Amino acid sequence: MLNKDQFADNHFIRSIIEEDLQSGKCQQVITRFPPEPNGYLHVGHAKSICLNFGLAYIYDGLCNLRFDDTNPEKESDEYVRSIKEDVQWLGFQWHEEHYASDYFERLYDYAVALIQDGKAYVDDLDAEEMRQYRGTLTEPGRNSPYRERSVEENLDLFARMRGGEFPDGSKTLRLKIDMAAGNINLRDPVIYRIRRVHHHRTGDKWVIYPMYDYTHAISDAIENITHSLCTLEFESHRPLYDWVVENIAIAHQPHQYEFSRLELLYSITSKRKLNQLVVQDHVSGWDDPRMPTISGMRRRGYTPEGLRLFAKRVGISKSENVVDMSVLEGAIREDLESVAPRMIAVLNPIKMELINFDEAVTQSREAPYHPHHPEMGERLMPLSKTIYIEADDFALDPPKGWQRLTPGGEVRLRYSYVIKCEEVVQDASGRVVSLKCTIDHETLAAKPQGRKVKGVIHWLSTEHAVSAKVRLYDRLFTVERPDAVRGDDGQYRDFTEFLNPASVTEIDALVEPVANTLAPETRYQFERLGYFVTDRYDHTPENPVFNRTVTLRDTWQAQAEKK
Ligand code: ATP
Ligand code: MG
Repeated sequence: MLNKDQFADNHFIRSIIEEDLQSGKCQQVITRFPPEPNGYLHVGHAKSICLNFGLAYIYDGLCNLRFDDTNPEKESDEYVRSIKEDVQWLGFQWHEEHYASDYFERLYDYAVALIQDGKAYVDDLDAEEMRQYRGTLTEPGRNSPYRERSVEENLDLFARMRGGEFPDGSKTLRLKIDMAAGNINLRDPVIYRIRRVHHHRTGDKWVIYPMYDYTHAISDAIENITHSLCTLEFESHRPLYDWVVENIAIAHQPHQYEFSRLELLYSITSKRKLNQLVVQDHVSGWDDPRMPTISGMRRRGYTPEGLRLFAKRVGISKSENVVDMSVLEGAIREDLESVAPRMIAVLNPIKMELINFDEAVTQSREAPYHPHHPEMGERLMPLSKTIYIEADDFALDPPKGWQRLTPGGEVRLRYSYVIKCEEVVQDASGRVVSLKCTIDHETLAAKPQGRKVKGVIHWLSTEHAVSAKVRLYDRLFTVERPDAVRGDDGQYRDFTEFLNPASVTEIDALVEPVANTLAPETRYQFERLGYFVTDRYDHTPENPVFNRTVTLRDTWQAQAEKK
């Protein structure tokens, strides 16, 4: 469930909206989230979704989902489907669903009107020539020799461009603004190009496609968008955005506001690069649990609430928004702490025999599924003569400060008795094979007499434990900014050189029998180990598969410092 406290507060866009509502400049806030369907959405998009849908929610406004599908080469229905699913999974529902391609006819009519007004012309310069005429940041551009074509000639040529008379790339339609403008985006920007490419929605109907800036501004105007929010790289496009909406015959004038993009350290926020990971098989797909995509994070076990909390924490501003992975993991942990029931899992088992186990005397206790949520219920933790414990919880030769089990030492079994290690069974190579221990039968619900026992370890009865596959995920990259590392030659190195070779390990583990009742995408905390989720696709109650969502503490920083 959404509530208004879940969204970033007091940022500059909220101040602008509050002023606009107060002054009457706007009666109802209408925003839009405008992805290009050329890949799956990532964590940066999650920030933008929470902003756009969040503002509509907070101010009782509306938010549209608009697919900016003006580059048919890279777009597909699969991406459209995944984007819709991701937005809904994050907890949002759009008011209207639109496609820029639904406006192609109107966009064409506006272009014709611009030609009639003498504000657009057909140019024959090719891409290279156009670059030469454009000028530089310090030098003005030069007018194209085709700039002064008559309105009649332009109308005729533009109609024939649409009609398919000219080869790809041979002509463009450009706005006639100012080749000497300080802002290069205003130097007669191209608004139509000829491309014979199949479009995922309009098929082969069009051989000319409108450019992003032109399309975006008009789409916002058509949909009565009041606050058009985008990332800072579009700041210098705003004068063009304004020029377009001021020079077409449309009643509504939307306004664009820019905020900084989210960048996540040890990760990548670019659909193009994420696509490379998929295409080159570095990951199993867009929704691989290591991917920073919304569908990958979902499969990893992240919650919509945790991601919204993260988006709130990173905030909205114009200053750099580079965030460490630990902030994301912290938000996920914080949400999971109160919603995930607990169970015991033993990932790397050794056997322990309880030599004085006695059916008539030894008892089992109930354990709560959550220490602070009794409503989640309890289950019996059955003790038996042999149990599994975590190999890591025993040390033959313990380091200083060790509180877990040692030869001759004592620990408490979680939800059960204090036990003492009487004998260590080793194989010929000295490897510990099993342990023989005694139960102190006085300690089930009481403290041991006359001594302190600090350590508590988890365990599973060998008779009751069930097996499960467990995938231990770690960060996908080993460096903070995998796409910004330069080699000795000063060139960027390929970011795939910095993939973490240990980003996933699959093990056979033991878990509680409840695992055989779980649906896919059920989240649990494995006590002392971390948060885990049953895999969305591979898990079945008969053959449980868990993905590690996040460890209980931030162990990455400590590791990084050791190296
Ligand atoms: P990419 O480079 O990954 O393809 P994009 O900006 O081209 O990103 P779009 O599909 O055009 O992707 O983005 C839809 C919306 O999401 C835009 O308004 C865009 O500004 C916003 N957005 C994209 N990436 C980020 C990010 N890293 N942080 C915040 N907002 C983002
Ligand atoms: Mg893009």
